[in-house]
Amino acid sequence: MVLVPDLRLVGGFRFRCLPGCGLCCFTTPAVAPSERPRLIQIDPEVPLVEGSGGWATIASRPEGGACHFLQDQRCGCHAARPSTCAEFPLTVHVSERVQVAVVLTCPGVDLSGLAHWADGTYRQDLHNSLTSELEAVALEIARAEAGGELRSANAQRRKVERRLASTGRWQSEEQVRRLLRGRTSILIPSDIDAGAYPDAEDELEALPMFFEPTKGRVAWRAHPAGVEFLTLRESGGIESHLEVLDPPRRPPELLSSAKASLAGYLHYVLERDSTIGVAYYRLLGGAPGLPSELVAQDLRFVAGQVLRMATLRRALVSGRRGALTASDIENGIRATDMDILDRPTVGLRL
Ligand code: SF4
Ligand code: SF4
Repeated sequence: MVLVPDLRLVGGFRFRCLPGCGLCCFTTPAVAPSERPRLIQIDPEVPLVEGSGGWATIASRPEGGACHFLQDQRCGCHAARPSTCAEFPLTVHVSERVQVAVVLTCPGVDLSGLAHWADGTYRQDLHNSLTSELEAVALEIARAEAGGELRSANAQRRKVERRLASTGRWQSEEQVRRLLRGRTSILIPSDIDAGAYPDAEDELEALPMFFEPTKGRVAWRAHPAGVEFLTLRESGGIESHLEVLDPPRRPPELLSSAKASLAGYLHYVLERDSTIGVAYYRLLGGAPGLPSELVAQDLRFVAGQVLRMATLRRALVSGRRGALTASDIENGIRATDMDILDRPTVGLRL
């Protein structure tokens, strides 16, 4: 088993946490068995939701509120926070190997480097603004190996390989990438109406969110008249209803810099093992086709989501019209990325 993490997807990204954001704490972080005692020492009443194998999650406050420990945008257990929090905005996916990537929803990550990804080339320079997060990743991998999680993720991946190979439908991650890299047809969706907006009147917890500097943490959901944007309180519940907007039906025009940003993002997504792991997961569940076909569909879907959210965010903030800029596309990426990372995949998200 390969234990040295592949850090190529971290290269070139700068990071600086934005004061007043707090977006990543609107979650229920996983707590490893070894992390549990320190949390209980800090707060004997910590609400842990039990999972399997001694794992748990810290409950968030009801109705879309933040993690139990967040108080006025500060973590109440900072020194003992779970490793998923300490390594954010990095994320680790394990299947055949250990791959570290960046969560591009985080507004503290500088996305200007994405244009370099348009041709699928890696940047090797690891930025020292991510040093402590990389250290947290190393600790997490060492702990996971001790717990056997990496071995079971690898076993799961090999099982999928055997099952698909027995029906002649196996393609490795690298084969999928070779087939799709540079195929511009996958980058231009003809339809951005695919995929429903979350309609979760009674489940504010389930709504996707992004950080909008002028408005705060914004959640969105379907509304009879279009798409509704709202903000949620740290303690739970709706803080303010912002606006209901008509969703775009056709792909917008893009400036060439915007096209480069979108192409860069899709190449970045293609290089993530978790993306191909999602296709394997769907094939395992009975979806027809080959891994590369499912990944190509997925990339078109992701591009459509980015364009929808870029158009809506621009309307929400400025009402400006005309072709989308690279900065509009970055806003669309930030409103999309966490959602696509949250999907079930073959392998393990540490
Ligand atoms: S989402 Fe990013 S910028 Fe916002 S609080 Fe978390 S790490 Fe900081
Ligand atoms: S444990 Fe701390 S850092 Fe992690 S989600 Fe909760 S408040 Fe945020």
